[in-house]
Amino acid sequence: MSELSVCRQCRREGIKLFLKGDRCFTDKCGVERRTYAPGQHGQASKKLSDYGLQLREKQKVKRIYGIKEKQFRKIFAEAERLKGITGDNLLLLLEKRLDNVIYRIGFARSRAEARKLVKQGHVLVNEERVNIPSYLLERGDKITIKEKSHKVPAIVESVEGAERRGLPAWLKLEKEKFLGEVMDWPTREQLTMPIQEQLIVELYSK
Ligand code: SF4
Repeated sequence: MSELSVCRQCRREGIKLFLKGDRCFTDKCGVERRTYAPGQHGQASKKLSDYGLQLREKQKVKRIYGIKEKQFRKIFAEAERLKGITGDNLLLLLEKRLDNVIYRIGFARSRAEARKLVKQGHVLVNEERVNIPSYLLERGDKITIKEKSHKVPAIVESVEGAERRGLPAWLKLEKEKFLGEVMDWPTREQLTMPIQEQLIVELYSK
């Protein structure tokens, strides 16, 4: 996907989805520069129906985490099956994905880049190679970049900028060792992206 089309997704949602790595933290960010949605009719304010709002919210979450519809439905079904609040479960299942944690911990500058690293076999979980981006991590799991990949420029640059982008409280990073660890899982309050997951629950409850 081109840089332009990636940034269009953020403009469409009207918020920063952080899909472009370091660029998202600069004034080159498309949302910082333009606050209206892309396209010919982007500047006209549209009133969405309840259904429209629910659909938009689902689309936004899929874009943030880079998930396709079929997979998203599966994750939602699992969130419903688990005990507790379905919306919270949904966000937690998305957060537990290996590609998300690789991004959050700072080994990649975006979730898309994280998916590539995992698929290309650069990532170890508890010293075993895992090349499935949707792999769900557990508390206490240790994530490393295999030694042969410590000089891959994208990984080096990403790790160098990890603190600048902000490391979540529930993850730990030892930069020099290319070692990350899941210390805990976030509470709903710690997930600060502007997501109204209840709208997605309402959408699928129809
Ligand atoms: Fe582009 Fe990142 Fe800004 Fe989104 S947050 S518009 S991906 S630069």
